[in-house]
Amino acid sequence: MKEGPLLGAHTSIAGGLDKAIVRGRDLGCNTIQIFTKNSNQWKERHLEQDEINAFHEAREESDMGPVVSHGSYLINLASPDDEIYDKSINAMFCEMKRSEKLGIEYLVVHPGSHRGAGEEEGLKRIVQAVDRLHQKTGGYKIRIALETTAGQGANLGYKLEHIAQMMESVRDNSRLALCLDTCHVFAAGYELRDGKSYERLFTEVEMLIGMEYLKVIHLNDSKKDCGSRVDRHEDIGMGMIGPEPFKWIMQDGRLKDISKIIETPGTGTDKNSEKDRENLQLLRDFAG
Ligand SMILES: [Zn+2]
Ligand SMILES: [Zn+2]
Repeated sequence: MKEGPLLGAHTSIAGGLDKAIVRGRDLGCNTIQIFTKNSNQWKERHLEQDEINAFHEAREESDMGPVVSHGSYLINLASPDDEIYDKSINAMFCEMKRSEKLGIEYLVVHPGSHRGAGEEEGLKRIVQAVDRLHQKTGGYKIRIALETTAGQGANLGYKLEHIAQMMESVRDNSRLALCLDTCHVFAAGYELRDGKSYERLFTEVEMLIGMEYLKVIHLNDSKKDCGSRVDRHEDIGMGMIGPEPFKWIMQDGRLKDISKIIETPGTGTDKNSEKDRENLQLLRDFAG
């Protein structure tokens, strides 16, 4: 695997899952994130064996490090509506099945929206959903990585306490992980722009959840200000967060072996590879 900090991008699977690895390699990534199907549709995607083989081969050939998958945006494991709730659990099960076949270690998912039912009720629904999923996937190696959110609308996960509560309540939390998104935590109200605040964030991760659960970091700057609770990604250093905190992350020894993935505007669309290249180069320069 390519030396240096684990750094990559969300890459497109257009033309086949293995193409995402090729794109990632072309961008100089040693880790990538992918969708294993169209993320804006409920329609499932069945993986053929030759597609799975091609993916494993491409991964080996390119010496690609950890690959992370991201669940569909339609999944809502906190939904108070039983029909959508069951549909979400089933969709999540399909995501886990595909990811497991591809040898993916972490499946990132937004915890969900309680849609007015209240935070406690929403968190309870998510815990039940995760327990059901774990039961259905006994023996799987894939771990669900709960992502921090900006807290738009009734979305849960905008506080580390939410993630901590879910992890404490599920039956087997050794099968869970944390995905921290810089844009989301900042928009949710976590200040990052001075050294003290930066340290406080990671102290809270350690105290509430445990750094050993932090497995994925999404590196995105934010178009909106701290506490805005609005999720709008921006190129690294070009938004309200600015370059400094990204420099600290890239130089932080605790985060060296954690997959750091950009989801800056246009990533994964395949039309934006020049912009991706610039964002990644900037981060590599920060690492020194
Ligand atoms: Zn993210
Ligand atoms: Zn986002």
